[in-house]
Amino acid sequence: MAFHRFKALETVLSRTPIEVILPSIKVSEFFGENVFGIDAMKEFLSEEAFKNVMDAMDKGTRIDRKMADQVAASMKSWASSKGATHYTHWFQPLTGATAEKHDAFFEPAEGGRAIERFGGSQLAQQEPDASSFPNGGIRNTFEARGYTAWDPSSPAFVIGKTLCIPTIFVSYTGEALDFKTPLLKALVALDKAAVDVCQYFDKSVTKVTATLGWEQEYFLVDEALYYARPDLAMTGRTLFGHSPAKGQQLEDHYFGSIPDRATAFMRDFEIESLKLGIPVKTRHNEVAPNQFECAPVFEECNLAVDHNQLLMDVMEKIARRHNFRVLLHEKPYAGVNGSGKHNNWSLSTNTGKNLLSPGKTPKTNLQFLTFFINTVKAVHDNADLLRASIASANNDHRLGANEAPPAIVSIFLGTQLSEVLDELESKVKSGKMSPDEKTALKLGVGKIPDILLDNTDRNRTSPFAFTGNKFEFRAVGSSANCSGPMTVLNAIMTDQLIKFKSDVDALIAKDVEKDEAIFQALRQCIVDSKKIRFEGNGYGDEWVKEAAKRGLSNIKTTPQALAAFVSKQTVDLFERLNIMSEREQYARYDIYLETYTKKIQIESRVIGDIALSHIIPTAIKYQSSLIENVKGLKEIMNDTDFKKVANIQLQMINEISGHINGIKTKVDEMTEARKRANTINDVKKQAIEYCEKVKEYFEVIRKHADELELLIDDEAWPLPKYRELLFTK
Ligand code: ADP
Ligand code: MG
Repeated sequence: MAFHRFKALETVLSRTPIEVILPSIKVSEFFGENVFGIDAMKEFLSEEAFKNVMDAMDKGTRIDRKMADQVAASMKSWASSKGATHYTHWFQPLTGATAEKHDAFFEPAEGGRAIERFGGSQLAQQEPDASSFPNGGIRNTFEARGYTAWDPSSPAFVIGKTLCIPTIFVSYTGEALDFKTPLLKALVALDKAAVDVCQYFDKSVTKVTATLGWEQEYFLVDEALYYARPDLAMTGRTLFGHSPAKGQQLEDHYFGSIPDRATAFMRDFEIESLKLGIPVKTRHNEVAPNQFECAPVFEECNLAVDHNQLLMDVMEKIARRHNFRVLLHEKPYAGVNGSGKHNNWSLSTNTGKNLLSPGKTPKTNLQFLTFFINTVKAVHDNADLLRASIASANNDHRLGANEAPPAIVSIFLGTQLSEVLDELESKVKSGKMSPDEKTALKLGVGKIPDILLDNTDRNRTSPFAFTGNKFEFRAVGSSANCSGPMTVLNAIMTDQLIKFKSDVDALIAKDVEKDEAIFQALRQCIVDSKKIRFEGNGYGDEWVKEAAKRGLSNIKTTPQALAAFVSKQTVDLFERLNIMSEREQYARYDIYLETYTKKIQIESRVIGDIALSHIIPTAIKYQSSLIENVKGLKEIMNDTDFKKVANIQLQMINEISGHINGIKTKVDEMTEARKRANTINDVKKQAIEYCEKVKEYFEVIRKHADELELLIDDEAWPLPKYRELLFTK
């Protein structure tokens, strides 16, 4: 159906604005009311069951069947009190979205009775009919079924009339088919490795958790305009569209006041999110028009990931209520800023200490430096894997593409901490240090908190930056599941901490004093990871050259980037830490490649459709009217006058023909290229073929179409234009 853009615009403009009611609300009165959290558990669970669940959350202990029955019964009473009639296991298959399969708590039975459908076994385990979820061949070859299993570390919640139970999703042979399983394993491994290192400094540390605070960027677009853009509706981004005369050059949208309609939407989805226990806190405009950001207070990593997945769902649902669509795509509009999801990451101890925040004593500062420098080393040693963890067809537009910063992984520390590292490097001796040298070093370390107080260093162009008390991984895509990058980051940190401890212990075994051993091991990390540190402009061309000189990778496309998932280094790393087996790694690799291919394939088809059935017919119609016009002129004028007057029209007719020709030829060639790519059986080769042979047509076809957009009568143009999509409030 052709839904002409003027009809769409009319719909938008005729809408009665949603009234923004801003009563003062007290968040504390409803925060977490739809979550089976600690308060609800205390109220509904027996003391014994409560303790069991808390132990499962904190220590990862198992909950036995009898206890699970109790928990299920209480969970059901609680959920029923919230109006829930159904339950579902809520999981994160590798498609990127979340999945649910709803079942009723009760089912009617003969004689007017009802049969209980929710007990401990239903809570603990389910078998979704999930054969359509991607599994990279794991389930096809081995066992046809997969199952979901309760993750007690993330609390259950109610949405609408359904109790949602966060679960992992694994095959019957035990392989992970989701994002959550490897993340949980990485977090367990990290806990152990980090506690072991903390023991050098503080014996009271018995648990270390990774913390994550994401910042979610997104665009809003009116629903009517969205529907009039088949490309947006089907691929999440615009595949055509000329830049508007006014883009984001003025950057007047950033931190400007948020339009009323958007405010009403935000308020609604924030309230919904807060009820679900998602601690959303800040909201503001982003750089581009109609682009916004939402960020919560940070939380334990697994919970934060679940909350982000949930938030994305909630946003989409609530947006519809406000006749909006949320665009979570990394690059919905060419020439306009893209969207990311900054992952703020740190480590926190059971003693309430943030390990990436310098302390008050030289000892805690040395602890800070240890974790800080080990992070730098981990990123250095695994830069390609980190790059792979954020690779997707969408995110390729934000990394390494035309208008995007280069896809080089580097790390920004700020001048002050860079100096501290340089000083350590020059002062630490590998032999025995004199007492004076040691004192001088410790004095230097002692000064860190003071120098960081005026840490005004902000480098917005770094993909991985230290921001005072946490690292911020900024290259993560806006639509991504944070689990991918968080699994990798926590895993590489774990591995590095284990290596570090073994280095320090080896020195201690050689009679080097503990602090000195730590200093020496840190110095080695600093020396070995130097090339990953970059304080300059990460968006400049200079950096691309400099990085190449340093031997840093600059991996521009997803099929290339994904290769790091199956490198020997990665496979060994994940196996060593018991996070994923080689088979699971390869399965994942295949799924990501297939997803990439599918995305490009769909985009290519949509480009073909829109070009041939929307744009060319419009161009031909308009061209015919020009031809009519020329014919008319010829009829009423003599030859000399005609030549003078009709020149422009004739030129336009020619230009239009040129573009029609260009579009048609290139779409035909692209279709042929697609056909060839479709015959390739090897997933890797196919993805590369799509990347290198099919995708290259997108720009050329678009260029012709975008030029037609400028030539053709505005009233005839079928697709909402950028200025309408971006500036209609
Ligand atoms: P900005 O980076 O915009 O200046 P903040 O520094 O306040 O803002 O924090 C940005 C994000 O970092 C927030 O989502 C916040 O929750 C998160 N954050 C702050 N401290 C930590 C931490 N220790 N661990 C993980 N995330 C954190
Ligand atoms: Mg930030």
